[in-house]
Amino acid sequence: MLRGKTALITGSTSGIGQGIAEAFAVKGCNIVLNGFGDAGEIELLRSRLAADHGVTVRYDNADMSKGDAITAMMDKAIAEFGAVDILVNNAGIQHVAPIDDFPIEKWEAVVAIDLMSSFYTIRRALQAMKERKWGRIINVASAHALVASPFKSAYVAAKHGVAGLTKTVALEVAEQGITVNAVCPGYVLTPLVKKQIPDTAKARGITEQQVIKDVLLAAQPTKQFVTVAEVAALCVFLASDDAASITGAIMPIEGGWTAH
Ligand code: NAD
Repeated sequence: MLRGKTALITGSTSGIGQGIAEAFAVKGCNIVLNGFGDAGEIELLRSRLAADHGVTVRYDNADMSKGDAITAMMDKAIAEFGAVDILVNNAGIQHVAPIDDFPIEKWEAVVAIDLMSSFYTIRRALQAMKERKWGRIINVASAHALVASPFKSAYVAAKHGVAGLTKTVALEVAEQGITVNAVCPGYVLTPLVKKQIPDTAKARGITEQQVIKDVLLAAQPTKQFVTVAEVAALCVFLASDDAASITGAIMPIEGGWTAH
């Protein structure tokens, strides 16, 4: 039932977003990729997804910290495909610092990309979804939409904000065939997280294995990373007709982290 629908995934040139884009391409959806990175690698990804799955794949380089660029991306996708049937707000950045030492421009960037960008995409996506009486909005939040960690004030505030936005929009469109949910991953071993491991090992004078076990996975009872494939499969399920009654949910996928 997803074949022929259009899925736009922000921040899909890497990590979780790329996995979600591929999972929707496997289901026969046309895809709009977005995110930063090497132009040649992005073109390889775009053409591979199109060729492997027989779907149309576009790439838009809109900066998720800029409202005008986001609006232009949405309008272009809707003009080409008629609607963004499945909107996945995934782009995100992190910055770690004590609140009294947190650079103002970093705080603003985290909130703009991790929270505000979803306001700009959602407000543009809804009209065509309402006309089709069908839509799926999936916000990639975080376990940090449910619990806090020190030194991540901007990220935790933004992700808690995403939870509030999710519930509010879900209520506004509940009678129109549109569901709005947030998925809340624990640690996923994406390029972003991988890059932190050697530096943390060096800074703390411990091995990379100890960083994984005692730092990254300390809060995750399964002691396993959540996988990109697991998050992508949850998103595909939330887009399915079987999930039509799931809306306004803030859904953990974090190996038991928030059960503590
Ligand atoms: P990643 O760094 O691998 O991917 C982030 C993507 O966002 C990239 O495609 C990047 O180009 C894009 N992006 C960043 N800034 C952008 C901007 N201004 N405009 C457009 N695109 C931009 O990270 P990831 O780990 O795959 O994270 C994806 C999402 O999952 C984020 O919202 C993150 O908060 C969330 N998340 C990640 C984890 C984890 O452990 N990796 C855990 C919970 C939640």
